[in-house]
Amino acid sequence: MTAQSWRSLRIKKYQFSLRLFLFLNLTSSLFSMVSPVYHVAAVTLPLLTITLGSAGLLLSHWVWREKKINIPAISILFGCLWAWHVAIKSPLMHQPNFSYLVIALLSVLFVGAIAFSNNIIAFTLHSLPVLTVCLFLGEGDQWVRMVFCFALPVIGISIQSVIQKRNDNFAQGLMFRLLEERQTLNDLSMLDPLTGLYNRRGLQNRLDTLLSLDASGHYVLLLDIDYFKAYNDHYGHMMGDQALIQVSAAVRDAVRSRDIVTRYGGEEFMVVLTSTTAEAALQTAERIRQRVYDLKIPHMFNHSVATNVTVSIGLAPLLGEEVETALEQADKALYEAKHLGRNNILTSEALTGR
Ligand code: GH3
Ligand code: MG
Ligand code: MG
Repeated sequence: MTAQSWRSLRIKKYQFSLRLFLFLNLTSSLFSMVSPVYHVAAVTLPLLTITLGSAGLLLSHWVWREKKINIPAISILFGCLWAWHVAIKSPLMHQPNFSYLVIALLSVLFVGAIAFSNNIIAFTLHSLPVLTVCLFLGEGDQWVRMVFCFALPVIGISIQSVIQKRNDNFAQGLMFRLLEERQTLNDLSMLDPLTGLYNRRGLQNRLDTLLSLDASGHYVLLLDIDYFKAYNDHYGHMMGDQALIQVSAAVRDAVRSRDIVTRYGGEEFMVVLTSTTAEAALQTAERIRQRVYDLKIPHMFNHSVATNVTVSIGLAPLLGEEVETALEQADKALYEAKHLGRNNILTSEALTGR
């Protein structure tokens, strides 16, 4: 679940409570008309407005789903209409009828409590006008009962919304943590654990971005550590790993941060030099070769070329999105560079030019 769907879930909840509120108002206003309390028929203007208004809003909300209706405004409007209705109807009863006031108040509280079980503001705005009218019309001894009827759901809804907020915060915190962890895992899955360089997956990801922005002027280097099998055999695999780490860091340090350095295979690296020239690419390759040489990692076993760890490099231009072709050419150049004695660089141009 993403932050987007979390937001849309909240909006859906909001819309649902609005639709429920309108539906409950529509049914209770219709019920008041069909089966009036104490048979005092009173199809008042506010009652009619509630019926038509809630039906109309329900319909329009159903047709224009995106249209946002303000819940506090609607709840106070309907609350006032109910209060107005009670104010008209109550005097129609010949003797003062407190039961009517309590029934009217309770049904308004009931609707509010169901529709706005988490929204104390909407509940209060909807109930207060009717409560005020009922307190005004009722006799003194009834006010405690009425205030109690109002206070009870207010307390309940307040507690409910505190619980809901804590649940929401917990769920949201959990969601953000999961998103973060997913991001971390995604990042980690693109890196080679030994050297911290990109692996092939990371390379592909970076290449996709690079080529979608700018598909020309890039160069590919393939690097391979010379006589590394012998190094491992002589110094052991652990030392081999340490050498790999040092060489990786040297390569990384020799290029710009926007270049892509990948551990392409066991002791092979691929570097994409972005937006550069043939000359600068060759200079960078030379810098890498020199930096690795300057590490002076002893390789006494290899008497034929040098007494420390070296790399050979093949260089080829990346034309358009032809990564495979560039790699093939760089590989051929690397093979030839090895053949020529190692610890050196060959470009694909030099190869084809020969
Ligand atoms: P060349 O100069 O022709 O490249 O000779 P080489 O010995 O480097 O080439 P080869 O492909 O025969 O051997 C590569 C060696 O790299 C074999 C393997 O022991 C070593 N190697 C590959 N991956 C790792 C690694 O992750 N850790 C260590 N320690 N050694 C590795
Ligand atoms: Mg190799
Ligand atoms: Mg090698």
